[in-house]
Amino acid sequence: MAASRGVASFRLPPLPTIGEIIKLFKLRAEKQLSQNFLLDLRLTDKIVRSAGSLKDAYVCEVGPGPGGITRAILNAGVAELLLVEKDPRFIPGLQMLSDAAPGKVRIVHGDILTYQLDKTFPKHLEKNWGDDPPDIHIIGNLPFSVSTPLIIKWLENISRRDGPFRYGRIQMTLTFQKEVGERLTASTGTRQRSRLSIMAQYLCSVHKRFTIPGKAFVPKPDVDVAVIHFTPLVQPQIEQPFKLVEKVVQSVFQFRRKYCHQGVRILFPEARRLEKAEQMLMLADVDPTLRPTQLSMYHFKNLCDVYRKMCDEDPDLFVYNYRHELREKRLKKANFKRTVDDDLI
Ligand code: SAM
Repeated sequence: MAASRGVASFRLPPLPTIGEIIKLFKLRAEKQLSQNFLLDLRLTDKIVRSAGSLKDAYVCEVGPGPGGITRAILNAGVAELLLVEKDPRFIPGLQMLSDAAPGKVRIVHGDILTYQLDKTFPKHLEKNWGDDPPDIHIIGNLPFSVSTPLIIKWLENISRRDGPFRYGRIQMTLTFQKEVGERLTASTGTRQRSRLSIMAQYLCSVHKRFTIPGKAFVPKPDVDVAVIHFTPLVQPQIEQPFKLVEKVVQSVFQFRRKYCHQGVRILFPEARRLEKAEQMLMLADVDPTLRPTQLSMYHFKNLCDVYRKMCDEDPDLFVYNYRHELREKRLKKANFKRTVDDDLI
């Protein structure tokens, strides 16, 4: 990797440091926007190297802020870099980087949660799903409040092969709060195994590249940060619609310390809950006394396949929602109590 960076034909000309850019454009980090900047060039380089070779690649950086990672991406010899930044204060500093790398940078002032990445890259980069990943990478150090909903949204895009993934199995290198990174990569039987582990790993090969101590950021966040790399799998480990997988996985992990049959039960309306849950577990060949964290991907695949069959046989089943039922029950109880109280007054 070092060699490929060595032959990169492009290097940025001397520029003010990121610290100077921050001062020049008065880019005070907004705490309420969870802005923490990475100024250490060794770390920004390490993040970019962990994405793989970017020579002549098309890259989208999400949340570039003052541009530390952006510089490392440009120095890796990319063909083109798209920057999507929500906070307008950063645009002039990014424009300065763009001027230093003529014709390479496109800046979008926008929100990555709503910005459409499905027509952003040249059409010739499109690959078939079964081919090697296209020469397109997504890289970003976003606020944690954005990176988690964003990865869920992108996982759903991967399952449908739409959004940015209509170009093929685009690789992503993103930062997360260390604990979230541990959940994303957790294997069967570990304490961190959770809903996020299954949702990410049934669709992607997910690897932690390294951890960045919180003290490397300015201002310092309360937590350490994990750099996670995702490559969408050619063959998802569960071949059912994303929403169905999400429902099964969410229900199973609803009671994460209890036996898994507790979570499976809430997939079914109360009247036939016990019988149906028992049937589902038996057909899926899952021991009802395993804890949710002990279930392997194979178990989840079987559970989703069996649940899908049950939904096909009973069209009302998929729309059944335990939480709505619970909420309605609570509401009814509260209304009843209010009526009784009113009667007593
Ligand atoms: N990447 C820079 C770095 O490592 O120094 C900045 C990191 S800071 C934690 C997060 C950046 O993401 C900020 O520049 C913030 O304005 C931007 N951001 C936050 N939410 C965003 C969103 N929804 N879409 C695009 N950018 C966003």
